[in-house]
Amino acid sequence: VQAAFRSNLSYLLELIGSGKESLIFMKKRVRHLASQWLLATRSLAQKLKGRRRDQKQILIHIGFLTEESGDVFSPRVLKGGPLGEMVQWADILAALFLLGHSLKVTVSLKELQRLTHYIPCSAHEFLISCASRKGFTPALTSFAFLSGMAAVFHLCTSVDVSGITSDLHWCEKRFQQLDGNIIPHGALWCRVRVIDTFGTEPAYNLEEYATLHGYRTNWGYWNLNPKQFMTMFPHTPDNSFMGFVSEELNETERQFIKSNKASNMAVVYGKEASIWKGKEKFLAILNKYMEIHGTVYYETQRPPEVPAFVKNHGLLPQHEFQQLLRKAKLFIGFGFPYEGPAPLEAIANGCVFLQSRFNPPHSSLNHEFFRGKPTSREASGSAVSSQHPYVEDFIGKPHVWTVDYNNSEEFEAAIKTIMRTKVDPYVPYEYTCEGMLERIHAYIQHQDFCAGASPPLPAKPNGHAMPSSPSPFTLSPNATHLVWSYNGSSAPHVWPPMSSMQVWVSEAGRACTETCQEHGLVCEPTFFEFLNKKDVFLQLRIACDTTESEMSHLYPALAENVQECYLQKEPLLYSCAGYSTKYRRLCPCRDYRKGQVALCRDCL
Ligand code: UDP
Repeated sequence: VQAAFRSNLSYLLELIGSGKESLIFMKKRVRHLASQWLLATRSLAQKLKGRRRDQKQILIHIGFLTEESGDVFSPRVLKGGPLGEMVQWADILAALFLLGHSLKVTVSLKELQRLTHYIPCSAHEFLISCASRKGFTPALTSFAFLSGMAAVFHLCTSVDVSGITSDLHWCEKRFQQLDGNIIPHGALWCRVRVIDTFGTEPAYNLEEYATLHGYRTNWGYWNLNPKQFMTMFPHTPDNSFMGFVSEELNETERQFIKSNKASNMAVVYGKEASIWKGKEKFLAILNKYMEIHGTVYYETQRPPEVPAFVKNHGLLPQHEFQQLLRKAKLFIGFGFPYEGPAPLEAIANGCVFLQSRFNPPHSSLNHEFFRGKPTSREASGSAVSSQHPYVEDFIGKPHVWTVDYNNSEEFEAAIKTIMRTKVDPYVPYEYTCEGMLERIHAYIQHQDFCAGASPPLPAKPNGHAMPSSPSPFTLSPNATHLVWSYNGSSAPHVWPPMSSMQVWVSEAGRACTETCQEHGLVCEPTFFEFLNKKDVFLQLRIACDTTESEMSHLYPALAENVQECYLQKEPLLYSCAGYSTKYRRLCPCRDYRKGQVALCRDCL
């Protein structure tokens, strides 16, 4: 069946259901963004005119909101708790719906059980979600399953967290039951998509490897293709970037902003009082120049962490918060929360975002919040080098100032300059409604984890044949990297297409994430299999005394002084993030669209 773009969101609002503050928040958001979504849908429909798009049956299980998972989010929606996950889920639902797919949404394990129990073998496809990993430790992890069964599931989206093992285990059991019975072996897990706020690097994903090499964490071990995990920001190219949207202003609103900005008005990032703790020094400096506003939740009286000179509005409904940002000149972060939606919204409303540089960057190795999360975020390019590395790296000045807060003069000078600087509202294309629709459209049409050998859980993958076809590359004229030059009659059918690929060799101690970035490209793990060959070393004029094939998230790579070359034995360990001072890595890079890093130039 062909998918038809939808032109009305009212049925989605019914699907989302009610009875929880989190669902009410999500529905308000969908309603508020409706006209923007519909415009974007029309625009994408124009762009894709005539393109065949299959309709998927998608089961969406928002696991972190289930009672069975303890749902710690819903009761805190009106009390300053995290909202980023709900923002993202509302947007995912809207995008999937508008693209014309058929959705089932559950926020209860019982309902999920009921739905999957009575699947007629010929009818449904699913997206399951079982959790969210932000903010709470050992907290909820946002996992989403998008799934489907042969003709049955298409995509299944789930979420889980440490605490909700019953949920996850149930999913596993049920899937194992179906797997190999009703549907061909392995054909179920390959349909799963996991909404995973912070991402999962390959070394943490494969259970056996993680256990042996010290990468065990509170989450992970799904042994999925890492691209099945979908993140909030594009910092971990081993995963797929899902994202969310930030409202765009129309011309009238832009004009309004231009004439109504108060150059001396600042809003502090942080709806929970704890975020303000110990920030008196910065607030005092800021107070010399600007009127400070806050949206800190309180019950009866001003939280002691918020000084009397701050105008505290209390937690605002989302659209009122946007209105406040429209008037403000500066949105200022004090280090937490990490990587939330609010800075993008501030920039979209014409604010400058000021944040502190983290030196050294925060990671699971040195910072409590990231401890136990299945990412290292060590490579520069994916490092948590500030409160919000995406806006630091992808947007930057004049919209974003990342300064050393330990240096009061630098901090003060930044405030003074920001007050004098004119900036226009800005939303990167990938965070607009159209950008998100375009990206999800491309994933749904092109990502196929069932075509290869995506192993079932609790998979012990083996027997992946090493590709034996001739190497499809030629060395670039300046002999620095390989470019794709497959001239055989049948180029491998992969997405992203191979025409977007280049192979570069990293310096020792560098990850592929940063190596590709240095060349204006992005690491694309889908391509690892094509360069995991002896031939490729030869073509790069690398002399290998020995070539071994082993399981390591650092391979393919070479150890230079000893002239040893290593191939990867376990495809699930192909990793953009891995690096070691011992190795130079072979890196699969690809081009990307400006403002849409998830897609290569020929990816649509
Ligand atoms: N927000 C809100 N009211 C407020 C302050 C923020 O509704 O008074 C919204 C904001 O629009 C954003 C969401 O809260 O979309 C999440 O913001 P944040 O960046 O703080 O991330 P979180 O830690 O909540 O995930």
